[in-house]
Amino acid sequence: MTRKTNFGAGPATLPAEVLQQLSAAMLSYGHTGLPLPELEHRGAPFAAILEECNALLRELCDIDNDYEVLWLHGGGRQQFCMVPQNFLTPHTTAAYIDSGYWAREAMQYAAYYGQSVTVASSADTAYDRLPEWPATLPLNTAYLHLTTNNTIYGTQWHTLPAATAPLVADMSSDILSRHHNYRQYALFYAAAQKNLGLPGVAVAVIHCDMLARANRNVPPLLSYAAQAREKSVVNTANVMGVYASLLMLRWTKERGIDAIEAENAQKAELLYNHLASSKLFQTRVAVAAHRSLMNVCFSATDTRHEKALLQLCEEHNMTGIKGHRSTGGFRVSLYNAVRLPDVQRLVTLMQQYEDSVQE
Ligand code: PMP
Repeated sequence: MTRKTNFGAGPATLPAEVLQQLSAAMLSYGHTGLPLPELEHRGAPFAAILEECNALLRELCDIDNDYEVLWLHGGGRQQFCMVPQNFLTPHTTAAYIDSGYWAREAMQYAAYYGQSVTVASSADTAYDRLPEWPATLPLNTAYLHLTTNNTIYGTQWHTLPAATAPLVADMSSDILSRHHNYRQYALFYAAAQKNLGLPGVAVAVIHCDMLARANRNVPPLLSYAAQAREKSVVNTANVMGVYASLLMLRWTKERGIDAIEAENAQKAELLYNHLASSKLFQTRVAVAAHRSLMNVCFSATDTRHEKALLQLCEEHNMTGIKGHRSTGGFRVSLYNAVRLPDVQRLVTLMQQYEDSVQE
């Protein structure tokens, strides 16, 4: 069966060569004589996988050994739990920037562990832009949390003002998509299923000064300090998932962040330019400077066009462009493994549809 072009927001499309290497390893990993799912999580081959993952991530993010890199279970939401569990105390407050669904969800998880406040929000304009950066933070702020790319609303922080508290970033949907100053964060994390591999895995990268402040009374599986001590192997690790991340990191390095950033900008420009000239489809994001290069969200002027375009795409082997259930409309995800010709084909199809309707 022909492989569909997947513009889905996650699990996202993976490069064919990564899938080929992963399937070969599923049957037999390297010279071990074992299928990847049977690889011992405390053995030397997996230790080497982890070591290479850490080195590549550090290199691609341009960070040093003063950051711990951890490969953890539970995807993005487990980080929503671990961040407050490890850093919120009875005497501190967690400050959250509310830029949409995932940012809010992160804050709601934090409320289970202690006190959290919203310090900026664009809820009043239905998240059609980023909020104003908070002018002040509560005095006892443990950390300021933000979502660098808002997967559902299609907004993205392209630059960040300085923060007066340790910055914690959910980078699930734009990690490694561009050159970025990762050193501004005390902690950044990402669910792997967009630019970094398979669902269920998350990477968390923590500066050692932040790690030194972590709460001690946390069960080892959920403790950043214990995971750092045990080199991400507190329990039976997701060997397959972490290996998929390694393949994605190698693929990312081979292409290079320069080339990835340039192609991501081209893909997004193509689609936003098309939307700007379209009479049937319009972008959801009001402020051009806030538009995401990873998730382009738009709506149809008429639900008739919405249904027709969704169907047309499926007929042409393109899938995953339906907007999130909470927003409706469309969302085209342009993660690193989505290539420029894929977007060109989509835009051509949209144009053909628009021409056929207007004739
Ligand atoms: N944060 C962001 C920005 C996301 O886009 C997502 C998922 N799409 C999550 C967190 C949640 O990830 P998970 O489903 O792995 O819990």
